[in-house]
Order: sequence, then structure tokens, then C-alpha cells
Amino acid sequence: MILVMAESPPAPDHSLEARIEALEGRYADCDLCAHECHVDRTAGEIGACQVDDRVRIGSQGPHFGEEPPLVGSGGSGTVFLAHCNLACVFCQNFELSQEVSSARTVTADELADIALSLQAQGCHNVNFVTPTHHSPTLGEAVTIAREQGLEIPIVWNCGGYERAEIIAELEGIVDIYMPDVKWADESAARMYSKAPGYWEAVRPALREMHRQVGDLALDEDGVARSGLLVRHLVMPGHVESSKRVVEFVAEELSRDTYLNLMAQYRPAYKVGRHGRYQTINRQITAEEYRAVVEHAEAAGLRNLEIDHWRR
Ligand code: SF4
Repeated sequence: MILVMAESPPAPDHSLEARIEALEGRYADCDLCAHECHVDRTAGEIGACQVDDRVRIGSQGPHFGEEPPLVGSGGSGTVFLAHCNLACVFCQNFELSQEVSSARTVTADELADIALSLQAQGCHNVNFVTPTHHSPTLGEAVTIAREQGLEIPIVWNCGGYERAEIIAELEGIVDIYMPDVKWADESAARMYSKAPGYWEAVRPALREMHRQVGDLALDEDGVARSGLLVRHLVMPGHVESSKRVVEFVAEELSRDTYLNLMAQYRPAYKVGRHGRYQTINRQITAEEYRAVVEHAEAAGLRNLEIDHWRR
């Protein structure tokens, strides 16, 4: 009797190149973020982020306004992408994120050149600001830049309205995840950021980020090399939402998570215009900020960046 061995199917290709190629394919039926619009951006269709598959950027260069571990002595090499998958009514950057007036289109090769130029200028990282809706092209750009000598870390400076499945595909591309966690409150997320299901999306995405890169790791000069850095902007009248955010970070990620509790909210963009969004048409109070900070400390978070002016 002759035994015929069944051929086993080929193992799936999980290489970086294969993952980026698979990500590129998603532009045609876009589910790159939690909106899951399923539009064909390669054919010029647009979803909630208002842009097809061509990357446009507003500016790039060393930036000294980010968190100290990103800035160091040489600055964070920011690349500001146009458009956004969130539509926050209070966006301070709305001329680039929502009402795009001036931005130039760049290819993956040009983005790789920009990354290398930021490294040559002494920046400690390449900081992609609002990257989610162009993650395939950015992944390709990083691969090209690394082949040409890019060594500094890649920072993913996003709004948290991600899909964990997409974040998983970025493993090995991103070194430092920096999600700005907006809301733990569904009605606020819908009303102020036009992001239904935000809290349901951001939690698994954060877990996946932390699984990949762990807590923030610094070099001997205090400059970040890898890890997770979480931002949270405390909003007027939404202390309970902030408390849920810090509880999640402490209990489900790590008490060593670097958490920047931001106090600088100012009404902007649509807030207050024609009397709209009056509930958030003010700065936060010192009491609101203190309540969130104290909750974070009570939750055991020991790597907090705090606005001392507000304490
Ligand atoms: S990246 Fe843009 S088109 Fe794609 S799912 Fe998100 S909002 Fe929709």
C-alpha cells in the first residue's frame, strides 16, 4: 500500500512586508479605524476621515512642546498629517485636521526622506501626529527609511479611536505608542468627537499597544526608546469620565504606565460658536483637575505627568 501524505497548507506570511501589503489592501474597503466606513479610498471615495488614500502633511520638524522623554535635547521629530478619523468639536488644530486648507501630498518615499532628515537634524524620534487613517503608507515609509539607516524610534501619536486588529499589524513598525484617550463616556464621545463606541474601541487597542511595547523605557539620558505613553485631556464637567480612564490604565494596563494628565483644555473651533456646545465652553477648574489627579494617585499610578500649576 502506498501512503500519500496530504500536503499541509503553506504557513501564513506574517512578515513585516506581508503585513504592510495587507494593510495597503485595506484602503480599498477601509476599516483602518473604529469607524469601519468600508469605502474604497483607492477610487477616491472618502469616509469619516474625509480623505482618500493619498497622504497629505501640514508641516514637519523638531518640536519641543511634547512630553520631556520625547523632547530630550534635540526635540521630537513631528510630522503633522492632515485630516483625522476623529472630528472633535474642540479641536485646536482644526485647520489641519478638519478644514484642511494647506497641506501637501507626499508619497511613502518622501515620508521616508522626511524621517531621515529629522534624524539628521538630531531629533530623538519620528512622531507621526494623527497617523491612523494612513497607517499603511506610514508603515511602508518606515520600512523604506529603516532600510536607508533610520534608527530613531517611531512614535504613533493617535487619538485612540483605533482597532486592535490594525494595531496588531503595526508590531515591529511602531516603537512608542502615544494614544490621547479622549472619553470613557459614550454620549460625550458621540457628541464632542463624533466617535460612537469610542470607549469600546480604545480599551482593546490600548491593551494591544501595551502588549507590544510595554511600559515606557528610557535611555540613560531620560529619552524614550520604546513603550506606551498615554495622554488624557481633562474636560470640563467630565471628571467621572476621566476617573474611568485612569482606573482602566491602572487596573488593566500597568501602574507604571506613563500617563500625562493634561489640564490645558481651552474652548476652540466649534465650541461656543453660535452658542453651541455650551457645556464645554469653559476651562476646567482647579478642583476638577485635582479630583482626577488624586484619583489617579489613589489608583496607584506612579508615573504621572501632572500640570503643577493646576494642583
Ligand atoms: S480611516 Fe477613514 S475611511 Fe477608514 S475607517 Fe477610519 S474614518 Fe473611515
